Amino acid sequence: MLQRQLKKVPQLVMRTLTLVSLRRRRKRRRKSWLNSDRDYTYSELLSRAFKTLRQNNPELAGEKKRYTIVPPSIHREGNKKTIFANVADIAKRMHRNPEHVIQFLFAELGTSGSVDGAQRLIIKGRFQQKQIENVLRHYIVDYVTCKTCKSPDTILHKDNRLYFVQCEACGSSRSVTAIKTGFKAQTKEDRRAAKRV
Ligand SMILES: [Zn+2]
Repeated sequence: MLQRQLKKVPQLVMRTLTLVSLRRRRKRRRKSWLNSDRDYTYSELLSRAFKTLRQNNPELAGEKKRYTIVPPSIHREGNKKTIFANVADIAKRMHRNPEHVIQFLFAELGTSGSVDGAQRLIIKGRFQQKQIENVLRHYIVDYVTCKTCKSPDTILHKDNRLYFVQCEACGSSRSVTAIKTGFKAQTKEDRRAAKRV
């Protein structure tokens, strides 16, 4: 019975929230159930369910947690190189091996590069911060967030030459494609598209 009632929950959210605050005021006034063994009323049950839901899974109660990353720190070096200074830090925050993130960046940007002594990534070519940020966003969608519950708390592991993203929050697991390595020549169109970003 409770389960069937909970299915109606989304439509009832607003009404319930109003009810809850009304009820709270009323409860303070009479605290009717405090010294009684009567059953909870429907709205009391609902507000209890929501309280628990908000405490344990705020995103399910409509309070969406947004996953944000720190912006990549990008600057030019000369005319032909771009420095991505905090790549190691960003990889660490995503719980990913920097090597994997860098591989993805190179494949997506169609370039190559190297890591210097200060863990900065030196990328061949001129790239803007927005481009790098876009690539990182794609990386997060493809290799970090759980498709089932949207949690970013996942681990990437290799099993029989296949990669899996396993969710620490809900336990679900999905396979992901290996990053296509190798130089991808930039066409004129690609370059124009890159400029528009
Ligand atoms: Zn999950």
